[in-house]
Amino acid sequence: MEDGDDPRPLVSVVVPAFNEEDVLPLLAARLRPVLDATGHDYEVVLVDDGSTDQSAAVVVGLRRGWPQLRLVSLRVNAGHQAALSAGLRRARGDYVVTLDADLQDPPEAIGEMLQAALAGHLDVVYGIRSDRSSDSRFKRGTAAIFYRVIARLTGGAGPSQAGDYRLMSRATVEAVNSLPESGRVLRFVVPALGYPSTSVSYRREARAAGQTKYGLWRMVRLSLDSITAVSMAPLRLATLTGLLGGLLAVVVGISTLVSHWTGHTLPGWTSTVGIVSAFSALQLVCLGIIGEYLGRAYTFLQDWPTYSVAYDSAESDPHPGP
Ligand code: UDP
Ligand code: MG
Repeated sequence: MEDGDDPRPLVSVVVPAFNEEDVLPLLAARLRPVLDATGHDYEVVLVDDGSTDQSAAVVVGLRRGWPQLRLVSLRVNAGHQAALSAGLRRARGDYVVTLDADLQDPPEAIGEMLQAALAGHLDVVYGIRSDRSSDSRFKRGTAAIFYRVIARLTGGAGPSQAGDYRLMSRATVEAVNSLPESGRVLRFVVPALGYPSTSVSYRREARAAGQTKYGLWRMVRLSLDSITAVSMAPLRLATLTGLLGGLLAVVVGISTLVSHWTGHTLPGWTSTVGIVSAFSALQLVCLGIIGEYLGRAYTFLQDWPTYSVAYDSAESDPHPGP
């Protein structure tokens, strides 16, 4: 199949990539045999997420010998989730697999995922990371806490240790596409939709080349997005702490009055400062939590696009090649 010939290949593989020039040739070398071996029509939607290195040029080069490779270029870096969204909207396949560019998730599992979906008439096949020993201890530790908190908040919806390596049917992709995009974390949205699913497990490997694009700050943002997306619990916690704090304040107030009346007035500087700063901190935390949700509501209201597509080889270029 060449670009534009068949609007509906059986499989689309969506790959978000941000500054992955070193990885892309390795990815192509491993992904292509896997997809060719399925014997089905396919396309690979490589979403260049505003890379500032030679990623786009590398893809253009790879496309010369691999017409099923499609390049979608975003104007500016939109982030992993938004790049995935861009790919999901543009993918044409009956089944769509999302895969990171860095070969941490082995492309070889795609065959198994497709088999499982076709054989069981299933809509979603999750890739489960059975072994993450290649990730840093810090990443594994924080990820474990993250998944535990989310499981708690959602009542355990969705498999734990499932990242963004998964296969989805056209129906699932359409359902995902119909949801608002900002602050959306796909790995929690998809299980919440409740389509019939199964999972395959794989060993998470080390990055094939290049560096992780998820620094600490991005991980914090992903966690906040995920938690505010799936749960109102932090808001309730804020209210609850406020109430408890109020009760405590009443107790402290009464005891102050009592000591005043009984003439046991102490200098009390330490306790005053202590109480004032404790309550200020508490108020700031609660304000912050409210701010998170307000920000989320505001972003929804604004409804700005989360990404901007500059180029799609399937649209602007009916003939494969540069
Ligand atoms: N990525 C992206 N946009 C970004 C950051 C990352 O498209 O702003 C891509 C990146 O190229 C990779 C995938 O998202 O294909 C996962 O990123 P990374 O491997 O850096 O994250 P990690 O595996 O360390 O969590
Ligand atoms: Mg990675």
